[in-house]
Amino acid sequence: MIDVMNSAEVVIVGAGPVGALTALGLAQRGHDVVVLEAEPAITRSPRAMVYYWHVLDGLDRLGVLSDMETAGLRNESFQQRVLSTGVRADIPLTLVAAISPYAFNIHLGQHEVVAIALRHLSRFPNARVVNGATVTAVRTEDDHALVEADGPDGVETWRAGWVVGADGARSAVRRTLGLSFDGVTWPDRFVATNIRYPFDEIGALAKANMVFDPANGAVIAQIDSTGLWRWTWSESVELPEEGVLERLPDRLAALGFGDAPFEVDSFTPYRMHQRMVDSMRTGRVLLAGDAAHATNPTGGFGLTSGIYDLLALIEPLSGVLRGDAQDTALDEWAQTRLRLFREFASPMASRIKELVYDTRDVPLLEGMVRSAGDMADPAAALGRLTGMTVLRSELPRHHASVS
Ligand SMILES: Cc1cc2nc3c(=O)[nH]c(=O)nc-3n(C[C@H](O)[C@H](O)[C@H](O)COP(=O)(O)OP(=O)(O)OC[C@H]3O[C@@H](n4cnc5c(N)ncnc54)[C@H](O)[C@@H]3O)c2cc1C
Repeated sequence: MIDVMNSAEVVIVGAGPVGALTALGLAQRGHDVVVLEAEPAITRSPRAMVYYWHVLDGLDRLGVLSDMETAGLRNESFQQRVLSTGVRADIPLTLVAAISPYAFNIHLGQHEVVAIALRHLSRFPNARVVNGATVTAVRTEDDHALVEADGPDGVETWRAGWVVGADGARSAVRRTLGLSFDGVTWPDRFVATNIRYPFDEIGALAKANMVFDPANGAVIAQIDSTGLWRWTWSESVELPEEGVLERLPDRLAALGFGDAPFEVDSFTPYRMHQRMVDSMRTGRVLLAGDAAHATNPTGGFGLTSGIYDLLALIEPLSGVLRGDAQDTALDEWAQTRLRLFREFASPMASRIKELVYDTRDVPLLEGMVRSAGDMADPAAALGRLTGMTVLRSELPRHHASVS
């Protein structure tokens, strides 16, 4: 490490959704925060886009929900469908109103959420974002940590009370600490495709859909009101990646929704994993979001877990910075968040991926879809709708109160 020394109470590595929102929460509590982001500007490629009703209270507390609602699409139902037989269920979120004022999901590209978070952050004189600063090394000491970044003004070293590594699945923070990222990489390629095609008119799809099929399974969701949709499909990694765009029209036709003009806005082929670190805390360095744990995207467990990481982190970290809390509060945070990923997020995401893209047992799929749409017993229906709140480490964890 070289001599030039900047300092901050907290250095956050990565201005993705997890880093940007963590910075906002800490800046709101008066802490001196610096965010180091490798890219010169926000990355716009298609990634997560659904914010479930049960994360919205936390986003509201951060003050970003209203802007997200304005920029995004509000969705009050979703569909599950067995592609081969057409058996389907449209499932309203209406029942959620009994336990939450937020009985809707928001659809919005994650780059827009980052833009909103950074706009809010820019109002705080105690927060700073440095773009084009690639973190290359992190070292933790007894009472501080050192972060080396290759930035616009050359290589600089930051001294921080605490570091939050929110630098994504390929985290440099994780690697420089020598932490393992154990787990599996799926043998599929996912293709997140932003496309203009009338899924609703010709396919009778809802604004959010899981389409179950071992050949053409897909997750399809409306992104905005301009006719833009996200269609996430999968294929074997044995196929050449450079042929994705050529194969795309046949894959769209294979859904069987009908012949209509379409326009591909953008697409990202990617591999997905079920992986996690051994510990989300190493001395003065905390890992959050994809830097700590990665999952396949089916069901939206990736960003949802990251959002719960940061919502649960802000208060204890702020307490430690103020001197009101022992740093054991951060051990507790790290252990709880990792346990919830290991015991719930990762297995649930793996099961949903298997059902959407792999399962050949049509009667099983049909039974599952029928029961998902069965509203005859409202308590049971609400129990199903709240299953994912098991990922919250804060209260209310609705799944416990209704099941
Ligand atoms: C194609 C694709 C589709 C996806 N679809 C879904 C989905 O539908 N639903 C879902 O829930 N999840 C989805 N995910 C996962 C979701 O995008 C992640 O869970 C989410 O982005 C995690 O946010 P994060 O802030 O932890 O990390 P990221 O969003 O990865 O942000 C990390 C940030 O750190 C920066 N950075 C990286 N290295 C450094 C460095 N050395 N120094 C400084 N900065 C650095 C990066 O530039 C980036 O801005 C998808 C992911 C991909 C790739």
